[in-house]
Amino acid sequence: MGITFNDPFRPAIAAAEELYPNLSLKIVLVDGLVDLGGFAATAFPDDGGPAHIEIDHELPLHAVAITLLHELAHAVVGLEDGHGKKWEEAFMQLAHGYAKHMDGGSLDDDDLKNIKDDIRASRRADKAGISVKHVPGEAA
Ligand SMILES: [Zn+2]
Repeated sequence: MGITFNDPFRPAIAAAEELYPNLSLKIVLVDGLVDLGGFAATAFPDDGGPAHIEIDHELPLHAVAITLLHELAHAVVGLEDGHGKKWEEAFMQLAHGYAKHMDGGSLDDDDLKNIKDDIRASRRADKAGISVKHVPGEAA
């Protein structure tokens, strides 16, 4: 018994820790990112320190998992790949790990569609020049 909660953060973090044991980063909830055009961003400090992921508190709960997985993939592959192939592969690995840690299951067709839609939208934004430097305050 007790209290159960399908926390969308913990399974994403568990997947990242399992897949990338040397990954070091900080995840922070922030205010005001939405006003600057995005719900989340991944920042890579100039001093080479650990990346940090900012998530705006206005991000809808139903979008937390995919947004966090998207940003974790950026943190894993670094700035150079943008929304490229390496980023996509990390995103997919993290998503599969998320499903495993969330309910011991696997991604269903809806999950896969949502991920593919996110990837396409991110690449369209790249081409349109409306994303992404992955610094605080910019859309990611
Ligand atoms: Zn992104």
